[in-house]
Amino acid sequence: RIPLVEIKNLKKYFNVGRGAVLKAVDNVNLQIIEGETLGLVGESGCGKTTLGRTIVRLYEPTAGQVLFEGKNVHKLTGQQLKEFNRKVQMIFQDPYASLNPRMTVGDIIGEGIDIHGLYKNKERTDRIYELLSLVGLNKEHANRFPHEFSGGQRQRIGIARALAVEPKFIVADEPISALDVSIQAQVINLLMELQQKLKLTYIFIAHDLSMVKYVSDRIAVMYLGHVVELTTSEDLHNRPLHPYTQALLSAIPVPDPETERKKERILLEGDVPSPINPPKGCRFAKRCRYAKPICTEQQPELKEVEKNHFVACHLY
Ligand code: SF4
Repeated sequence: RIPLVEIKNLKKYFNVGRGAVLKAVDNVNLQIIEGETLGLVGESGCGKTTLGRTIVRLYEPTAGQVLFEGKNVHKLTGQQLKEFNRKVQMIFQDPYASLNPRMTVGDIIGEGIDIHGLYKNKERTDRIYELLSLVGLNKEHANRFPHEFSGGQRQRIGIARALAVEPKFIVADEPISALDVSIQAQVINLLMELQQKLKLTYIFIAHDLSMVKYVSDRIAVMYLGHVVELTTSEDLHNRPLHPYTQALLSAIPVPDPETERKKERILLEGDVPSPINPPKGCRFAKRCRYAKPICTEQQPELKEVEKNHFVACHLY
């Protein structure tokens, strides 16, 4: 299948003063296939949000490329750029911060419709009502302001705003982590339903592997700016190969007490090292219980070690 998005040798570095460089995304290669959900997982500081933002052009890459429908997104201009800005949308972690408090919900949703000249007058109003209903709200909500809504409803408004311009590809940056646990599943289910209905492609960014499991077809695990493992969601949960993925998965509670007793908890020692001047060799070496001499010398490349299962580790 042809990839909708191709990320090629992508680097995003930030100068943080005194000659120090923060390597937030460091040589990432990924492909996203039309219609799939790619989960992007890792602890805070692993570069997942920077990667998401670089894909949607909120950041310029330091090196490498992002191709959308075969075109380099950071080189787009004119009509092609306008089309990209319509086809690619982002859903943010904090729905409240991303909604203008002085605009009504109808105007928030209508803004993109106007920018792209999609509908006018009555058709525009009908489209706003249709979008509200698509996300589980109703037309009475159109004249109200963001502060009148709960966190879950605000995220629904954020989703309606993203859908208003009929996108193909959505980068969802931790869309549920700011919500109450009781609401999280509802928003996840809504995103899944919309994907089916509207044939959307998602990148779903999260720090929690258990949640990503249910939404993703494939999962990329990131650690300090690198993708360290990439495979199907099922494979990742059944046969995690990278020691970091194994540790992340071992921290997820298993409901069955029998299995829980058998399951070994792998505790991650120490904190994530700083992405400023990261260590040479494998960036996970300091916390890895299998580390061997080569690990601190040579950086492991992401390799396909089983069919469609990629891992960056000297054990394989
Ligand atoms: Fe551990 Fe070495 Fe593999 Fe890194 S390359 S995860 S240090 S075994």
